[in-house]
Amino acid sequence: MAAKSSKHQITLIPGDGIGPEVVAAVQAVLAAAEVPIEWEERHAGASVFKKGVASGVLPETIESIRRTKCALKGPLETPVGFGEKSANVTLRKYFETYGNIRPVRELPGIRTPYSGRGIDFVVVRENVEDLYAGIEYLQTPGVAQALKIVTRKGSEKICRLAFEIARAEGRKKVTCATKANILKFTEGLFKRVFEEVSKDYPEIAHDHQIVDNCAHQMVMRPEQFDVLVMTNMNGDILSDLASALIGGLGFAPSANLGDGASIFEAVHGSAPQIAGKDMANPTALLHSSVLMLRHLGEMKKADAIENSLLVTLEDGNILTADMAGGGREPSGTKAFTKELIKNLGAAPKSYPRREYKKVRMPEISHDAVSVKAKETRPMGVDIFVATAIDPGVLGPAVEKLIGDLPLRLAQISNRGTKVYPNDLGIESDPVDCARLRFKVNNHGDTLTDKDIAELLLRVGTQAPWVHVEKLFKYDGQAAFTKDQGED
Ligand code: NAD
Repeated sequence: MAAKSSKHQITLIPGDGIGPEVVAAVQAVLAAAEVPIEWEERHAGASVFKKGVASGVLPETIESIRRTKCALKGPLETPVGFGEKSANVTLRKYFETYGNIRPVRELPGIRTPYSGRGIDFVVVRENVEDLYAGIEYLQTPGVAQALKIVTRKGSEKICRLAFEIARAEGRKKVTCATKANILKFTEGLFKRVFEEVSKDYPEIAHDHQIVDNCAHQMVMRPEQFDVLVMTNMNGDILSDLASALIGGLGFAPSANLGDGASIFEAVHGSAPQIAGKDMANPTALLHSSVLMLRHLGEMKKADAIENSLLVTLEDGNILTADMAGGGREPSGTKAFTKELIKNLGAAPKSYPRREYKKVRMPEISHDAVSVKAKETRPMGVDIFVATAIDPGVLGPAVEKLIGDLPLRLAQISNRGTKVYPNDLGIESDPVDCARLRFKVNNHGDTLTDKDIAELLLRVGTQAPWVHVEKLFKYDGQAAFTKDQGED
């Protein structure tokens, strides 16, 4: 029987554009550092789209990552236009890599307006839920809608991961940034879960910032941050902003961590303009490979490679064109790679050292039900209708149709603002999609699906319905938000 290899099996996706060049550079440095890795080269991206695979990822690539549980990936070109999914998003979703980790640390020799301020924090972004679940509809040709999905389970996983990263890196504080002041159910749930989870990490301080203020703080005083945790879209935007503070996307590494597999990649794209010209800077992917090695528990090798990168940047003798400013002659990717290899074993002169431990991935039940209500009470139903009928006409017409059903029309709203009855005289600029909110007449009334089906038929005689949402109270708490102007 063949002995099991003691090497780490890693799926390697060279990717598009400059991908193969930066991937080759990283492979060369890791080989020179004698990291025990067996690469399994697989493909995704433009070449795969061209073969007619709509997801942009070959089945053998999926199979390989499922087996190795770890991938290092070059940038993938995303086709522009309708109908095609992004291969990057396919991979993230396929392996439920729920945690996107972006370290943001000032690099030696990379001059920015923030140089010398000691920026050193980690952005932890939820990576699969929120608006990026990608559930969108056109309710009418002129009214688009996206569903923002935030779950207790998803929020708990990412918040725990943020605290675990803080622990593993000896960090002192985790900041949660949300829009909970406006989005009380989605962003509010995330904030509440963050506060609950923080209790399990008493040695780590925690605070909360409204996400717009957080963006402002990040530009004004980025030194204040240690670990930041956010829902998907907020994290997407603020992690790019954060990258700009240390030199731009070209220097930003990332890890996509999941319970099954994890995928490590640079944040930058395939830079087609410089592809094949020996001009690409492999810094971001090399740094991503350092994150990968720490994830695999190869702490010493990770430190050695990170140090060679820091020394190379600190010396600044051999730099690719994007880094070599101030009249310095730029070098190519290959020369830069040679310099990295030459500097293996050296330590940076002026860079504060951080002790890294392996991050403990949170263990959260995979049960689909993460919260149960003791009591669920139906409160009514919202029916969205595609119509431009004046609510002052539609309201009374619908009220006449309710008849014997145990419901009343509580109000009509347009884009979340109550427009009927318009007792507050709210001025709005309506669109052709209205929400009719029906509430049960008495708290004791039961509302059946048959009642709702009958109501839909009756409402449909006035205006076509496009979307229905039941209204509940869970354990006495309303499970729906009020309209602007609703009592
Ligand atoms: P890009 O990151 O490829 O390029 C932006 C600019 O940065 C260009 O001037 C480019 O030359 C430069 N640049 C980027 N990486 C560099 C590197 N390593 N060394 C030197 N210069 C570098 O962004 P883009 O032009 O918006 O996108 C190009 C393609 O990449 C698109 O198809 C896009 O969808 C895709 N993309 C993929 C990923 C990914 O796979 N994770 C991320 C972003 C964009």
